Amino acid sequence: MNVSERIARLRELMKERGVQAYLVPSTDPHHSEYLPECWKRRQFISGFTGSAGDVVVTLNRAGLWTDGRYFLQAEDQLQGSGIDLFKMGLPETTKMEDWIVSQLPEGSSVGVDPRVLSVEAAGKLKKAFSEKDISLKYIDRNLVDVIWEDRPAPSDSPITVHPPEFSGETVEHKLERVREKLSSKGCSSHVLCALDTIAWVFDLRGKDIDYNPVFISYAVITEEDAHLFVDRGKVTEDVREHLANLVTFHPYEEISSFLKGLAEKGGRVWIDPVTTNKWLMLPLEGKVKIHMERSPITDLKSVKNGTELAGFRKCLATDGAAMVRFLKWLEEAVPSGGVTEISAALKLEGFRREGEGFVGLSFNTISAYGEHGAIIHYDPTPETDVELKPEGIYLVDSGGQYVNGTTDITRTVSLGEPNEEQREMFTRVLKGHIDLAMLRFPRGFSGKQIDAFARKALWDAGKNYGHGTGHGVGHYLNVHEGPMGITPRDKGVPLMEGNVLSNEPGYYKAGEYGIRTENLVVIEKDQELSSEELEFLKFETITLCPIDLRLVDEELLTEEERKWLNDYHRKVREELSPLLDEDHVRWLSERTRAV
Ligand code: ZN
Ligand code: ZN
Repeated sequence: MNVSERIARLRELMKERGVQAYLVPSTDPHHSEYLPECWKRRQFISGFTGSAGDVVVTLNRAGLWTDGRYFLQAEDQLQGSGIDLFKMGLPETTKMEDWIVSQLPEGSSVGVDPRVLSVEAAGKLKKAFSEKDISLKYIDRNLVDVIWEDRPAPSDSPITVHPPEFSGETVEHKLERVREKLSSKGCSSHVLCALDTIAWVFDLRGKDIDYNPVFISYAVITEEDAHLFVDRGKVTEDVREHLANLVTFHPYEEISSFLKGLAEKGGRVWIDPVTTNKWLMLPLEGKVKIHMERSPITDLKSVKNGTELAGFRKCLATDGAAMVRFLKWLEEAVPSGGVTEISAALKLEGFRREGEGFVGLSFNTISAYGEHGAIIHYDPTPETDVELKPEGIYLVDSGGQYVNGTTDITRTVSLGEPNEEQREMFTRVLKGHIDLAMLRFPRGFSGKQIDAFARKALWDAGKNYGHGTGHGVGHYLNVHEGPMGITPRDKGVPLMEGNVLSNEPGYYKAGEYGIRTENLVVIEKDQELSSEELEFLKFETITLCPIDLRLVDEELLTEEERKWLNDYHRKVREELSPLLDEDHVRWLSERTRAV
């Protein structure tokens, strides 16, 4: 069955259900960044494989809304499908909800599976539709699943325990802290839908999704008990023992009937509107008081304790040693030929695999040579893969999941003789990276307020980069986690002592090259500047890997920036040398020499 046949079949189902449009968002019931195969419904119905993009099918038209990263790919993949491409972010593009309103007659119904619509998204759609008396109709059975005959089965991987020796806190204590937060807002219970919040609070990890060590589940925490909704087959004896007397287990789909019972008891339920799906709200709405706010667990989880930070430091040393082995290998292998973007990424993964506590990659490796480096989310495929030559610039953004932490690092290296402009732009990016790393700021400031420090050196030259400077990083959890971030689009969440974030300014010259330097940082209290009336925070860089000095124009660095670079390189040398053989130590000493 091709895409137009699938859409034709969907239209028959829509007529049976009495809806004039059907929504196929790209999200899953848990708002995950990476979807398991069984929930890639948008991909099945449209043939478009990008990570973001929503589809709407009406009885005579169909549209896909996606962002700038995917315009070319979507154009290509939608050919012959009968689906129109709507380019989000362009001023002339009609918004999805406005297009639906323009297409449907008054009094129409739009069908959607309430599991794949967040509470927030459902609210926005309802509001937009109300002007034309269009209603949102929640259809319990996902209509794409009806057509998708050979839909992959969900994963049945067993869940593992993430013991306190790595997490630094017992589940009992975590539950106590969550309950304190609940009672501070007058709530009697909290419904958890985001998979990383569930993994964190119960100290469990899973293998249901690529790159994110989480498992498919829901949870409810009340004042007196806790409930985990997960397929029985995944719950091992170890897991039962770990949560004995703390948690009651239920089958995954039983959350809905459980919530009906919860609603009958009354009280006030805490719901995170961004990560909770609308299906979970249906048994509660109108029956019980709802408190809408970001999950308290998102905030608790973002402040890493001493054990977690020690784990981060340990796995970043392991990861740094793998990076050093990779960079030395790359330098020697490229001139002999045969190294491609994909083979280099696999080689790097091989070095990581040998590291202690390595579990898997934390995201798909961006291994980008020359002009591919300018495509910010470039993911090499056999069709785009190119050979690395002893010239030009190579950018590699990669990371690992370790039992004691999560890593994310970008290095840009010169494979030949860099030109003047490349050295200048690399150095401006590095200045931004260093200036942010050295910044000391009063407690209460958000990432939005300090983002520009990483851009100033580029702005001075009339340049900028089109992405955020930093994102939160989970502890052996999702490589992208909130609530804070260092980006102009941040919602103003104050940065906290114990937050782990990335520091990753870049510069991209379309059709030529891309530059990015990314280290992880942890926020600490600045003892020197803090006083009784004002507390100051600072960053400590915890990623360990040399920065390519061949691309640095020392003349452009200030004395302070040069000192930072030399101090950083000394630390990299001291901490990584014990993990490397003589050959690599020699190479590292040269690469971390003082400038
Ligand atoms: Zn990265
Ligand atoms: Zn990153």
